[in-house]
Formats: sequence, structure tokens, C-alpha cells
Amino acid sequence: MSLATVSGIVVNGVRGELVRVEVAVSDGLPSIGIVGLPDASVSEAKSRARCAVDSSGWPWPNKRITVSLSPAEVRKHGAGLDLPLAVGVLAASGELPHTELEATAFLGELGLDGKLHRAQGTLAAVLAARSAGLRRVVVSSDVAADVAGVPDIDVWGAASLGQVCRLLTGQGSDADVESTTAGHPAPEHVDEEGPQVRLHVPDLADVRGQAIPRWALEVAAAGGHHVAMVGSPGVGKTLLATRLPGLLPALSEEESLEVAAIHSVAGLSSMPGATRRPPFQAPHHSASSASLLGAVHGGRVTPGSATLAHHGVLFLDEAPEFCRPALEGLRQPLESGHVALHRAGWRGSLPARFQLVLAANPCPCGMRMTPGGCSCPPMSVQRYASRLSGPLMDRIDIRLTVQRPSDGELQSTVPAESSAVVRERVEAARERTHRRLAGSPWRCNAQIPTGQLRSHWKPDSGGAEVLQESERRSTNLRGSDRVLRMAWTLADLAGRDRPGRHEVTAALTLRGAQTSWL
Ligand SMILES: [Zn+2]
Repeated sequence: MSLATVSGIVVNGVRGELVRVEVAVSDGLPSIGIVGLPDASVSEAKSRARCAVDSSGWPWPNKRITVSLSPAEVRKHGAGLDLPLAVGVLAASGELPHTELEATAFLGELGLDGKLHRAQGTLAAVLAARSAGLRRVVVSSDVAADVAGVPDIDVWGAASLGQVCRLLTGQGSDADVESTTAGHPAPEHVDEEGPQVRLHVPDLADVRGQAIPRWALEVAAAGGHHVAMVGSPGVGKTLLATRLPGLLPALSEEESLEVAAIHSVAGLSSMPGATRRPPFQAPHHSASSASLLGAVHGGRVTPGSATLAHHGVLFLDEAPEFCRPALEGLRQPLESGHVALHRAGWRGSLPARFQLVLAANPCPCGMRMTPGGCSCPPMSVQRYASRLSGPLMDRIDIRLTVQRPSDGELQSTVPAESSAVVRERVEAARERTHRRLAGSPWRCNAQIPTGQLRSHWKPDSGGAEVLQESERRSTNLRGSDRVLRMAWTLADLAGRDRPGRHEVTAALTLRGAQTSWL
């Protein structure tokens, strides 16, 4: 009996997982069997691999072939294991040398003619190979350029099984195999923000007036606070929400790779490292709960808007119009940063740590804030407001009323402050937060858990007085914790060591304590 071990990768959810493909070739009746939880698509791989090997002019062993896929607990699905299976059979039968196999992962679906096709979520797979310490990954050449920007791993693109075999036997020429290595030349115009030429990030400089909402967005960006805005149609709620990603600090390299991998699983093209700007997702209010939170079809996961907004902003315009299961389904990722998906036999979780921005009209007709403009019966206004449930709204720190800018503000020729200027203050505040929270798992003030907040992060005596006074008026201690978190963000923005009377009072304003919200 002769053996070979080859590394393959499957994508489960939005993460790649390494699969060891062990192939044993022994004397006996010609046959092939696969063990280790293969689903139907993997079982079909044996037929595809055999045809591809024949078409490529390599001999398929006329022996008994046993394939074991491990680890057992990893679900193996999709056609991405075709290539490691074919390579494993040829290596076990002595046709291919084993020297390069140990440090290489193989990924791709084989056509019956031996051509290599792209597998879903290639970028997520390449990241998994890199985390497993492998030095290179072989993928279909039509997808190699998309993943070439991943540092610390070589990406080899090949058009067919034949090319992969020539590469492994040392017969490959440069013309055969497109090799893209770490340190691949970056696209033009790349700076810390990514290639600006390909990406337009809406700027706060385009927003006239709106002093309080602008300030609220700055606080939201500095502390990672969720925001809800209420205002008549057309007052600029969407204009404001789309500016939040431009105020957030740039993503780290790892975060931007993670975002690009998620988008690659969703079938959206996203070059790794192409942008360091946090993603922005604005699903329509007719979106189903599956399109917001994620769906599973045939073992394949389609990430929802909540996951596509990971490390960025999820904006729900006309939030009360979203279906109830979609809105309630957001409570879990808001608390944990994950969506647990248990659908169609698939169980797992998808990352979804986003900043939520909700916008709502003040009533179904939208005219309630215009004197004499609203004709909605009080019951329907109440029903509309109650669609944003207490438990969901409890998680939203900042609650704003947005008014139409005055004519003077709209006609003003004085340039408004740009996103870049505000972002500098946001970054300085976050730097202070990081220093204070060093050694803890939390990265911004909005993430500090209640127990920690109450025991370690008290305001000064003046701030404590204001907070106690507000607690006497309201029984919702959870709301009071949110005020304290925002007060810390305001102290970080002001460069103060500890929030005082001024910061706590300002935080109460941001919490909507002085206005009747919806
Ligand atoms: Zn109305």
C-alpha cells in the first residue's frame, strides 16, 4: 500500500478550514471510497477527479483507492476538494513527488476536461492556509490575481490539473504557472486609505448645518456607539448616516482582509487590501430576515447584510418598516458580534460586529414634526413607534432628532468641516481609549460590559451627581450605563482623564433624555 497526504480547504460559513486529504492506494479490485463525512458534492469529486486525470494524460491507478478526509468534525462540502483529491491519488500512486505537498494547500473544482475552476470563497480559503502555517496555495488562475495581495503566503494560479502536475514535477515553466508571491506589487494610488481612485467615501463637508447630528456622529465614531435618528423625510438622515464610515479609523490589515474574505464568500468582488475604509451596508426595508442575517442553501452560506457590515456600519433607513423577525434578529449580533445561523441542517455562526444606524420617520405619514402636517391617528403613530421594540432600542446609545437645516445654513458658503478633520479627533480619542483599556478585550467604550463599567469606570463626583439625579428620574439602569459609556467617549474626545458634570450632561442629551423620542 502507498500513501499520500495533501492539504485542501473548505469554506464553512465565511471562514476557511483546512482539510487533510489522505489517499491510500492498495492492491485489490479497482475502486474508490471516501470516508470522513463527505457530502454529495464531495462524493461526486471522485468521478470528476478521475475524468480530469484521464483528460490530462496522467494514469489513474487501476487499484483500490481509499480517501480519508479529516478532521472528522469539519463539514466537507463543495467542489473545492476536487484538486487535492486528484493530486493525492497521483502522489499516492507514485506519479507525483511528495516534496512540495507538505507546505502547499490545493483548492479548486475540476472540469471533466481537466480545467481548474474557481472555488467559492477563495480568499477565505487562502487566509485559512496562511493561518495553518502553509507557505503556498494553488488556486485557479482566473482567481489568483484577486488573492495575490495576501501577505506571507505565495499564491500559484494554474489553469488546469495538467499545469499543477507539471509544477509539482518541476516541469512547469513561467508561462505555465502564474506565480504571485507575497510582496506582490500593489495597485497604483494605494495609500493607507486604499486606492482612492476606485472608491468614493461620502464626506461630511457636503453636509450643511446639522451641528448636533454632526457632533453625535463624531461621538458615535469615537466610542463605537449605535445611533438612531428620527426626522421628517428628506431632512438629511441618509446623508448623515453615509458619512459615518468616513469618520471611523482605517481598518487594520487583518480587519480589511477579513472583510474582503466575507465579501468573496458572498460572491462580491473585493480585492484584499484594496480599501481600509470600513464597509457600509444599507439594505432596503423590504429585506427579509435571511437577507439581513444570512441564509443557507445546499450547505452553502450566503452572508447577510449584518455580516457584510462586519467592522463597518449597518444602516437601516425607515427602520420601523423592516419585518419584525429581521429587527429582532439584530439583537443577538448587537450583543455578541455574531449571528448564530441554524438553518437547513447547517449550524454555525457568522461574524457581525457592526455599528448600527437606524433612521425613522416620526410617524407613518412622516409629517408629525411639521405643525399641522400630520393626519395620522394616534393609535397608528403608537403602533409605528412600537415596531422598534424596547429591547432593540435599549441597545442604541445615541438617539437623535434631525431637523431640516435653516435656509441660512443651506445657503451658507462657509465650508463645513471635512471628514478627515473630524477623523483626526476620533483617532486621537480612540488612542486614549486604547491606552485606558490596554490588556482588556474591549476596543471602544461602547463595548465595556456593565459590571466593569460600574466597578472600574466611575465619573468624577460632579458627573456622579448628574448621573444619580437622572437615575432617580428613570428606572432604566441599562440606559444609565449607556449614558456613562458615552460620557467616557466625550471625555476621551476632550482629552479629560475622567468624565465630569459636563460630559454626563452632554451624554444625557445624546441619549435623547431631553426629547420625547418617537
Ligand atoms: Zn403622520
